Amino acid sequence: MPTTGGAVRRSISIPSPRAAGGTSPVQQTAIRSVEAVLRGLPSHGWPAGWVGRRDRALLVLRHRAGIPFDGIAALTVDDLRIEQGLATVRTGEGNPVTLRTTEDCLICAPCALVRWLHALDLAAVHSDGRVVASVIARAAPLTAQSPHVCEGRTSGSPDTVGLRVFPERDRWTPGASAGLAAPAIGLERRSLALMAGMT
Ligand SMILES: [Zn+2]
Repeated sequence: MPTTGGAVRRSISIPSPRAAGGTSPVQQTAIRSVEAVLRGLPSHGWPAGWVGRRDRALLVLRHRAGIPFDGIAALTVDDLRIEQGLATVRTGEGNPVTLRTTEDCLICAPCALVRWLHALDLAAVHSDGRVVASVIARAAPLTAQSPHVCEGRTSGSPDTVGLRVFPERDRWTPGASAGLAAPAIGLERRSLALMAGMT
């Protein structure tokens, strides 16, 4: 008896969980735009690697997980858990959102979150910013064939418990602290600028 396993696997491999019922041409264009930006963001160099990791995590949470900007601004490191290629994001509203790995490491959503968590962890452990800069600067350039850091198990370290995923006072991201009164607006502006190719 034939099974529908292949069809089921195809349906769950669609990048956005909100698009599980099928993607319209407009949605497909949006997905391609996000992927194009993700492919261009650096993960190494200083401060480009710091900002690139931050932006990649932001795009994944907004455009892959479909979390609104005020929800993203409220996320703490404890809300993220990545294990065996699956990221689980606890949003405080309904069921957690899950993101699956993709073969291409440049657009792998769980990897994007792990690499940003690593950067946050570095900054929490080392008060001397020169150490953070040195490690990120020398990181291996990200490629489609890079090792998947999402395959292990990653969650917030004790040093980052309670820390915002996107700290309001981010000394290395231009404009990150400009929206202190409304962090969500700052994140939305950043995302829109990235999508418009303005950065
Ligand atoms: Zn990955």
